[in-house]
Amino acid sequence: MHSRLLTVVGISVPAKTGAGVPGTQMISILTKLFVFSRDHFTCIFCGKGVPEVELVLDHWLPVTRGGGDDLRNLMTTCTRCASQKGDRTRSEFSRSLREKNLSATASSA
Ligand SMILES: [Zn+2]
Repeated sequence: MHSRLLTVVGISVPAKTGAGVPGTQMISILTKLFVFSRDHFTCIFCGKGVPEVELVLDHWLPVTRGGGDDLRNLMTTCTRCASQKGDRTRSEFSRSLREKNLSATASSA
């Protein structure tokens, strides 16, 4: 029932999030819903939401760098921003986005 609801709002729910991967835990659907609704169902980096983009949960501090699955370390991103972010922290990725925007502005001027 939950996965049907999430499909309706354009959120994909992998059947086994992080299952079998050391250092990761299953993130419950309720946790995902809480974080998505806290972040207003929009990507915190590009500001886009469903149905324009597909939303996923990402970590402020990546799991690979010691981050956990607690609510304070989870944020809503779109699949595109999440894949670009990789294992950087939120602030590292935000900085790289700003630098990219600055260089794009400079080169177009
Ligand atoms: Zn995004």
